[in-house]
Amino acid sequence: MQARVAVLGGGQLGWMLGLAGIPLGCEFAFLDPVAGATAGAVGELIVGALDDVVAARRAAENATVVTYEWEGVPAATARALESGAPVCPPANALDVAQDRIVEKTKLRDLGVATAPFVAIDSLDDLRAAVEEIGFPSVLKTRRGGYDGKGQAVLRDPADVDAAWSKVGAVPCILEGFVTFDRELSIIAVRGRDGEIRCWPAVENHHLDGILRLTRAPAPGLDDALQDRAEAAIRPLLEDLVYVGVCCVELFDVGDAVLANEIAPRVHNSGHWTIEGAETSQFENHLRAILGLPLGATTSRGPSAMVNCIGAMPDRDAILRIPGAHLHDYSKAARPGRKVGHVTVTAPEPETLEARLTPVIALCDRAVLP
Ligand code: AMP
Repeated sequence: MQARVAVLGGGQLGWMLGLAGIPLGCEFAFLDPVAGATAGAVGELIVGALDDVVAARRAAENATVVTYEWEGVPAATARALESGAPVCPPANALDVAQDRIVEKTKLRDLGVATAPFVAIDSLDDLRAAVEEIGFPSVLKTRRGGYDGKGQAVLRDPADVDAAWSKVGAVPCILEGFVTFDRELSIIAVRGRDGEIRCWPAVENHHLDGILRLTRAPAPGLDDALQDRAEAAIRPLLEDLVYVGVCCVELFDVGDAVLANEIAPRVHNSGHWTIEGAETSQFENHLRAILGLPLGATTSRGPSAMVNCIGAMPDRDAILRIPGAHLHDYSKAARPGRKVGHVTVTAPEPETLEARLTPVIALCDRAVLP
């Protein structure tokens, strides 16, 4: 064993970090509130709340480095561990990612384009802000929203009061509604020495606010689009003196990209990198936080990732499809829950489509027991 990695959070992202890290000589300890959390299969699982500093210190005992796999980890927990081992990514990345106003302000200050936005603390603020932002617009809670939760679309003035109640009358951000061509994301890794490498930008499709399908690289990706996407993440990683993997979700609009959200961790839209890239996001995250040389982020060819939402598809049927790679998180089936994913690889785009179609059909057909 060459390194002990403590991970705050023990879900599937932690599990895939473990799967990538064991061959590198790492052992793992995870802190997660759920006994039986997925990552327990690849390391020691400390069961405790993520704001329980005593439990977090137990997970971080003898750690070479501390990292996290969920952006909701309280920054105070991360900071409490800094005296024992380096915390990567730094806790300030949590501060930025946990508050949509801080997040969008940071992006704007760094020259990264976003939708127009205004901070909202009251119904009166909202009434004034719709004058500035106009309709349609999107009201989102400043903190705690994910997968489209805590959001309301405002189409005309009659929606204002209902939207404010719907999000729970809490501090919010009002954003202009972006009529995007498609959604993209860019994932990058920054090493301890400051080197940054980016994977090809990918195209994401959501269903009911949950990522359903990622195509990698994004169809039609050229150098100009890759450069635009990288320009939305490189300054952020420099500014935060970031170490590890980070994702920025983007809207592709004409000749521009707008940054929507920062995830300071390995990301669902990067799962394709396990089979589809020279080095996976999980391996490069570990290489970065351990101060090891970074691996190449080039793709091996076209690939796609389908999330298994609610229940797993028929395993035999998936495995009969050439180029299909199954990842079962061993989670109980539940509506809307990410329980696994399938990555499909192929030598060229036409074959990828032929393989992907039955994978999507099988995932759509997966039923709750
Ligand atoms: P978020 O929680 O910010 O990632 O938003 C979830 C989803 O809502 C995004 O993936 C988009 O599909 C949609 N969305 C969020 N913000 C906007 C916006 N300003 N304009 C249009 N669609 C949006």
